[in-house]
Amino acid sequence: MAKEVRVRFAPSPTGALHIGGVRTALYNYLFAKHHNGKFLLRIEDTDQTRYVEGAEQYIIDSLKWLGLTPDEGVGFGGEFAPYRQSERKEIYKKYVEELLANGKAYYAFDTAEELDAARTKAEENKETFIYNWSTRGQLKNSLSLSKEETQALLDANTPYVVRFIIDDTRTVLLDDMIRGKISIDASTLDDKVLFKSDGMPTYHLANIVDDHLMEITHVIRGEEWLPSMALHELLYDAFGWEAPRFAHLPLILKPEGKGKLSKRDGDKHGFPVFPMEWVTEEGTAKGYKQEGYFPEAVINMLALLGWSSGTDKEMYTMDELIQDFSLEKVSKSGARFSPDKAVWFNNQYLQQKSAAELLPAFQDVLTAEGIGTNDTLDTQVIELLKERANFVKDIFEQGKFFYVAPTAYDDKAAKKAFKEDSTEILTKFIDVLNSTEFTAEALHDAMANFVTAQEIGFGKIGMPLRLSLVGALQGPDVPVIMAMLGKDETITRINKIIEVLG
Ligand code: GLU
Repeated sequence: MAKEVRVRFAPSPTGALHIGGVRTALYNYLFAKHHNGKFLLRIEDTDQTRYVEGAEQYIIDSLKWLGLTPDEGVGFGGEFAPYRQSERKEIYKKYVEELLANGKAYYAFDTAEELDAARTKAEENKETFIYNWSTRGQLKNSLSLSKEETQALLDANTPYVVRFIIDDTRTVLLDDMIRGKISIDASTLDDKVLFKSDGMPTYHLANIVDDHLMEITHVIRGEEWLPSMALHELLYDAFGWEAPRFAHLPLILKPEGKGKLSKRDGDKHGFPVFPMEWVTEEGTAKGYKQEGYFPEAVINMLALLGWSSGTDKEMYTMDELIQDFSLEKVSKSGARFSPDKAVWFNNQYLQQKSAAELLPAFQDVLTAEGIGTNDTLDTQVIELLKERANFVKDIFEQGKFFYVAPTAYDDKAAKKAFKEDSTEILTKFIDVLNSTEFTAEALHDAMANFVTAQEIGFGKIGMPLRLSLVGALQGPDVPVIMAMLGKDETITRINKIIEVLG
């Protein structure tokens, strides 16, 4: 029987989760579910200098909002706990000691100044300094020093790091599920630091130890980790462990097409690059959630940023994505982010939803605006205006006049709509309204009969009437508006415009 597929999303809690990270989580999730496997959340917080308060909770909340709920991990439990690396320090220590004992790693005592000096010297000779087979003999480490010298330094609590010995004679053969076969000459690699004397492992050690212990079968992560793949393969070898399969995802590119999508691009074009709002002392960064995107629209948009089923199909439910997703169809080249496409997806999902489904979100907007809710009216407003909306909040923008009577009238519109005879016409029309049943059909007929009887063009009544009700020359059919506002409110608004412009 094949091994159960186990994948992990392993963010470092260094700030808000960029949507590139969200896409990595999504692809891991889809791959796991497609194979009936497990999706884990591991928090890689070994670099205490980059730790940001609140970032971990932000990651958990974002995954939950998007429906990417981990099967195991920080905040979700599981038999491989703890899933937070800062709680696993003792484990890494044990493994680094194993490498030291087997002669696969060594202590290095070089100070920052000594390494700087070595770098400068190399530059003077037009060379680049690499801490590896070519230099380690001349540097201050347990390979160049005697056993006794090394022990004396350790006994004196001299700060050290543990470095991995890269076997420079090897050619490392890599096989990435997206990029295919790559071969790396190990003599170009450096002896990476695995552990520091403060008792903390570096990313590389903690990452592979955990992937092994947590029985990860596939490592799906961003392209920025591709250069680390050879080192990771060598580390698996050094421990005598079977390495997982690797898949490095393409970058998400700026809307202009060149370079990685950054927060600055979002600020410049006014679109969010974070799933949820992120509040810091410097200000608030926009989030898809708070901007009014549906989680399923964000998922659908991200799924297609780097993956395609090979058909024209663009609308995918999560279940369909799980069904169709495969790493083989992930592209090698970067995927250009399109803010317009994000809006388009939201529009599509909004149009698919019934007024009843949209009602709670719409009433949240009303409440935030300090407006009381009324299920019947609110549902009618949604049904009437949703067709022209990309976001639920657009329905409110376009239908605000249903809740708040206009108190001022746009100058240009007033000049165009409210003429010398408007007061007289509107006053006469109020008489008609008083004896008309307030349904859209009856009001439509009443208006038609009125213009015939008065021998006036339709605009003579239609325009000032619309202006009185909406405050602008926009919006749905006037009889529909009147029917929804009701007789009292309609007549009050007509009287108001006569008072202000008449
Ligand atoms: N902690 C790394 C990151 O923040 C994880 C990389 C990996 O998935 O191996 O991206």
